[in-house]
Amino acid sequence: MIAGYDWRKSEPRWQKKWKEWKLFIFNTRSQKPVYSIDTPPRYASGALHLGHAYGYTVIDFAARYRRLRGYNVFFPLCFDVNGTPVEVKVEKEFGIKASDVPRQEFIRMCSEFAEKNIAEMKHQFEILGESMDPSIYYQTDSKEYRKLTQISFLKMLDRNLVYKGNFPVNWCPRCETALADAEVVYGARETTLNYLIFNVEGSEKTVTIATTRPELLCTCQLVAVHPDDKEKNWLVGKTLRTPIYDRRVPVVANPKVDPSFGTGIVMICTIGDKDDLDWAMKYGLTLEKGIDERGRMTELAGKYEGLGTQEAKEAILRDIKERGLLVNQESLQQNVGRCWRCEAPIEFLQVLQWFLRTTEFKGDVLQMVDMIQWFPEFMKVRLRDWVNSLAWDWVISRQRYFATPIPVWGCEKCGEIVPAREKDCYVDPTIDKPPIKKCPKCGGPLRGETDVFDTWMDSSISPLYISYWLRNERMFKKLYPNSLRPQSHDIIRTWAYYTIVRELLLTNERPWEHIMVHGFILAPDGTPMHTSAGNVIDPIPFLERYGGDAMRYYSATCALGMDHAFKEQELVRGSRLCGKTWNIMRYAGGVCGDKRIRKTRQLRTVDRWILSRFYRLVEEVEKHCNNYEFDKAMSTCENFLWHEFADHYIELSKWRAYRRSDPAVRYTLSTIALGTLKMISIFLPHVAEHAYQSFLKAHDRALSICISVWPKRELPDETAERAGEKIKNIVASVRAWKSKNGLPLNSPIDFIEIVGAEARTLSKDRLDIKETLRARSIRLKEVAKLRTRVRGVKPIYSKIGPAFRSGTEAVLESLKDISPEVFSKRFKKGRLELILPDGKRIELGQEFFEIDEEIISSGRAVDALIIGDMKILLPRIDAKS
Ligand SMILES: [Zn+2]
Ligand SMILES: [Zn+2]
Repeated sequence: MIAGYDWRKSEPRWQKKWKEWKLFIFNTRSQKPVYSIDTPPRYASGALHLGHAYGYTVIDFAARYRRLRGYNVFFPLCFDVNGTPVEVKVEKEFGIKASDVPRQEFIRMCSEFAEKNIAEMKHQFEILGESMDPSIYYQTDSKEYRKLTQISFLKMLDRNLVYKGNFPVNWCPRCETALADAEVVYGARETTLNYLIFNVEGSEKTVTIATTRPELLCTCQLVAVHPDDKEKNWLVGKTLRTPIYDRRVPVVANPKVDPSFGTGIVMICTIGDKDDLDWAMKYGLTLEKGIDERGRMTELAGKYEGLGTQEAKEAILRDIKERGLLVNQESLQQNVGRCWRCEAPIEFLQVLQWFLRTTEFKGDVLQMVDMIQWFPEFMKVRLRDWVNSLAWDWVISRQRYFATPIPVWGCEKCGEIVPAREKDCYVDPTIDKPPIKKCPKCGGPLRGETDVFDTWMDSSISPLYISYWLRNERMFKKLYPNSLRPQSHDIIRTWAYYTIVRELLLTNERPWEHIMVHGFILAPDGTPMHTSAGNVIDPIPFLERYGGDAMRYYSATCALGMDHAFKEQELVRGSRLCGKTWNIMRYAGGVCGDKRIRKTRQLRTVDRWILSRFYRLVEEVEKHCNNYEFDKAMSTCENFLWHEFADHYIELSKWRAYRRSDPAVRYTLSTIALGTLKMISIFLPHVAEHAYQSFLKAHDRALSICISVWPKRELPDETAERAGEKIKNIVASVRAWKSKNGLPLNSPIDFIEIVGAEARTLSKDRLDIKETLRARSIRLKEVAKLRTRVRGVKPIYSKIGPAFRSGTEAVLESLKDISPEVFSKRFKKGRLELILPDGKRIELGQEFFEIDEEIISSGRAVDALIIGDMKILLPRIDAKS
């Protein structure tokens, strides 16, 4: 017995070999065209989940395809080690807050945590068969990388593209840091709308105002009504007194007020949300800070100072209620912004921050967006909409720890900024000394900046980093712009946008030629995977059950740009395809042997047919892979290999496979088996490599299938295709007929007759049909004289029983005895005269029986199959039903 394919032995073996052979190492000296991939540096905050495994596998498809197309592929292995995700995980794991331990100690803990995850992920990439290049490895927390981030910042500072400003920003009180708009996730929340009584100054009157945030009363500075609101108009110009604080606030009319919300009167606080800021600007209100960076009430809140916002809200509502100033409460669905890392509701705070000028470059960014080819195209709209919606510059500073330090010092007296010198980078201003001792303006002492960069400041220069920008001009020319940015759709607003805007400002060139945007893998029930929902799928158990190729097969079933519910069934299909591929290649290898095979002129129709189909396959796979539609490429390959090549061609050519005198079948088998295997190696590299090395290498002679030469294609041969399809259909129908009649597929049959106007065109191919079907004779005829002969009648029991009841048995008895001769005498106009055993005569309508007829040709009974305009006549077989 010959063993089948065992992925458990095969996969680790080839992973090891590929490493040994250094197949995926970028060749800096090669003259081949370069295909460079701006690999997403995977966050080191945890091991890969199923969605990541899918995402990186799709990128690997692109890399393997281009390698086979003769490109010098640049595909760095890399990890993103900066930023809050790692910090949040470390805080959770050790039950601390970053500020609880010394700064450098916390950074060390983050680093260790990240390294552990990186080791795990490297292993995961390997068993998935990902072909990243470890020789161009990077981590975003390396000094090299951070140095480039700092230099890129200094260059922008020099050109006045960044500025420090005291503007309100999105603020996460849990992470205690500013957030960019893109880091705020909006979602619905149930909250309470509270109706509070305000006194009107100099009058006995009161008004009721509804608010969701009574804790902000301490910063209430203005009240507004709609100018057309006739009931409330009288308030305009009056002054109100707030509850609890008794602050004097003027009432204004403004069309922005929604008269149908609450009581139609709104209170404006600085600052509850972005809208409030617009009011503050318009009416020249002082920006008051009621909540601090840790989400606690400031001294403005009076007795509530130091409470968290939620506690403060409860306390102040209690007091208001006690004073009889709370008249009503109702629940309200509210759209609230949350921190994308930790999900805490964000506040809007005014804190001194660094900003990058982005809003003034919206037009240029949009132009650049159009210079990049998007796959799928519709993802471009998402970025365009985002750019158009931007109202604020990018806040690039974070009040965190584990990230690239902002390379500046500030004067403690006058605030003057002293930037680091480029040649001194990488610097950490919290440790390193400034380039000059004292403030150049006032001579005051300098203090290192403790803020760090937003992690996107690092990752947005990944194309520049991997292309050796500012470090190696020759390599930069070779690699930049990169060929491909692959990424998921959730980071279009961040990674894609920030990269484009930064590279625009730094190089005035597009960062990539192509961008490929893939979707998410959802839980099997179609819901998003979330740690909080407990439905995150770990790929490891599936890899252990089915292997890397099967997992890759699953990835190849997912259409680009869409989200997909996970289907374990696809892994089962994948491992079946591995087995099938192995068997087909083993057969082809067995027939072809290991002697060199030359192209031959002795091709038969079926050879030319399948070769033509194969050339079309190559063309289609090229088209799909060029469009990053790997799902289509894979299913086209699978269908061809399994359902055309194996099911039909191999069957049609088996009869001559082992005839030494027939080089055509060996040429055809080796060409197609090798070519298809190479295309399949994009998706199932392990089984492809194993089959290549075991059965087919002698006919190709590359060190590995991964670096072999892409199959050549010729022009399709339409005549051969038409004839081949005909032969295929005839053989398939007769084989189906055999199995329907309980005959083994290899059982001989007496004869086959093919009848039809074009039957004679098959005369060159009669042997293929005859031998494949194991027919003793074959005849091709334009016409055949056929007649039908009645063999008897078959009663329809379900009709006779209910109609004849107790007489049923007698009817059946008489029907059984009817011979074809008697039948022809007694059957007239659809009715059969029947003589019952007691001599009684009845007439039976045709609903009670079937006429059992057979077809007669040249005096013998035949079965006839109809295929298009042809009839296939075969020896009559009595079905043993
Ligand atoms: Zn947070
Ligand atoms: Zn100074």
